[in-house]
Amino acid sequence: MAEHHTKVLILGSGPAGLTAAIYAARASLEPILVAGMQPGGQMTITTDVENYPGFADVIQGPWLMEQMQKQAEHVGTKIIQDTISSVDLSSGPFTCIGDGGDVYTGDSLIISTGASARWIGLESEEKFMGFGVSACATCDGFFFRGKEVCVIGGGNTAVEEALYLTNHASKVTVIHRRDSFRAEKILQDRLFANAKVDVVWDTVMEEVVGDSDPLGVTGVKLKNVKTNETSHLSVDGVFVAIGHTPNTDLFKGTLDMEDDGYLITASDSTRTNINGVFACGDVQDHIYRQAVTAAGTGCMAALEADKFLASRAA
Ligand code: NAP
Repeated sequence: MAEHHTKVLILGSGPAGLTAAIYAARASLEPILVAGMQPGGQMTITTDVENYPGFADVIQGPWLMEQMQKQAEHVGTKIIQDTISSVDLSSGPFTCIGDGGDVYTGDSLIISTGASARWIGLESEEKFMGFGVSACATCDGFFFRGKEVCVIGGGNTAVEEALYLTNHASKVTVIHRRDSFRAEKILQDRLFANAKVDVVWDTVMEEVVGDSDPLGVTGVKLKNVKTNETSHLSVDGVFVAIGHTPNTDLFKGTLDMEDDGYLITASDSTRTNINGVFACGDVQDHIYRQAVTAAGTGCMAALEADKFLASRAA
């Protein structure tokens, strides 16, 4: 079991964590970044990125994250592939213990553990997870070549997933609980123009239906929330895209958080309720949740950590 100490310990390797690392490294703070369960974060499970500034042509999410990681390493960040399983923030240096028992201590701590896809919570959804039920079209869409699938949700993720799935599936039905999407208009226009897409409004999924041997999805039971009428839709795959939950279980009881788990930071700042602990990116942002805003708050966290360390040394 190894011990690692740094002035700035960063948890998470999405745009927030890597930007914090770039700034902290360039401030000669020799940061250590623990990459976490999903190295590169949610951007690694997206495809086309059109709204990250600086690129005239469409770029790929995984490529962007690879570039950020290399940039962070080039300027002096030590990136370690590990997942933190417990933390002790009762006094500095702050201690984080990795899955395998490695101990990481930081004079300051930047939390950028992001958010994970949310599930509806049906027993049948869990039963078929990985066997026709997925929360990642770019990871699993390929398995549904020539098949019919549905997407649950009405936000940007649902519409993007649906559009991506039209590259593989023969038909994509988007099932949304209301009668309008919250997704950006440009995405909605693309969706409505796609002949492979059908939309079912005012409807929720009540059950995933399928075979047990071999385990696989054959359809979904739906309910219209306005008429209470139920119906069956035959599909081979179900993609759940109903938003995200912040990855903050580690900090429950220690850091102030909203009822829905988002870490609370001071206004116009990434400061948490513990001096020296900062939070940036999707773990504390339930409003914008963009790669570019995550990068922005990552920069803020590094600058604030630098200031905190300087004030301690003074
Ligand atoms: P979101 O915007 O929160 O949308 C979640 C969708 O799921 C909503 O339409 C919601 O319905 C629906 N929903 C929530 N709980 C549900 C349930 N239990 N059953 C059925 N439907 C449910 O989440 P998101 O689409 O993942 O996007 C998250 C953030 O990332 C947003 O800020 C988005 O702009 C951003 N994002 C941006 C891009 C991009 O810029 N290209 C791409 C992906 C995501 P209601 O509408 O009725 O609430």
